[in-house]
Amino acid sequence: MISPMSATPSHTLQLTPSAEEEADAAAPVSRSKRNVGDREKYWPHGKTLKIAMYDADNSFIEAVKSAASKWLPHINIKFDFVSGEEGDIRIAENFISNQGSSMIGTDALKVPQGLPTMMLPYDHLSPRFAYVVMHEFGHLLGALHAHQHPDTEIPWNRSKAYELYKAQAGQTKSNVDEQVLPLPRSNTRHYEPYDRHSIMHYDISEHTTLGHWKQAENPQISAGDIALMRKAYPKTADTPQQVTSPAPSSPRSYRVPPTLPEEYRRLWRDVG
Ligand SMILES: [Zn+2]
Repeated sequence: MISPMSATPSHTLQLTPSAEEEADAAAPVSRSKRNVGDREKYWPHGKTLKIAMYDADNSFIEAVKSAASKWLPHINIKFDFVSGEEGDIRIAENFISNQGSSMIGTDALKVPQGLPTMMLPYDHLSPRFAYVVMHEFGHLLGALHAHQHPDTEIPWNRSKAYELYKAQAGQTKSNVDEQVLPLPRSNTRHYEPYDRHSIMHYDISEHTTLGHWKQAENPQISAGDIALMRKAYPKTADTPQQVTSPAPSSPRSYRVPPTLPEEYRRLWRDVG
């Protein structure tokens, strides 16, 4: 499998590097090698994120909480899961493709209330579910894709990568450039050393690299992920590790948007 969301890659969305980023890429590199986060999209330290789960049933919510809570010991952010459709983060179950996707950090605030800021696979019994939740919550916290780190060690065979992603998912060359291959260094991003074991790293097929280099999906948050988040959201001594639960859900009564809002698609990660 190539994407964190499905057997076929669906990486059509990522912002095209801006002129500023292009300029950054050309600027001398300062500091040391610096997993990747968009520091301009980090949430305020200490914030309690209200996470609306629409009318998801309790077993689904518990599965999300269990996986998402793996981040909590490392961040100065709290999660408050609620039923309904009002929250900083709004998570809809994806009944269409059973994939995950998310806005990056505070980009979630750009999505109008009532529309989801994250989609998660409806099948919470899947062995991959926890992985997808941790990956998407990484994006929620502002993390970007580790495999796109400018210091990535992946020896890409770019022509093979373009071929395979086109054959398997209809991806264009620019999609692959924007979603899969390394991105230019940017002064607005927070870098820790490249970490192939990051939860934010896709599985990489040996058919897209030189020398049979490959990387499977990583089932757990890595030391590099922890290092990134500790710097992004430093904890204070009195920061409680807290996750709250919604009251038992009422019978389904919300109209969950079945698909992502088209006008925000360029801001989403992991969606095709
Ligand atoms: Zn992703």
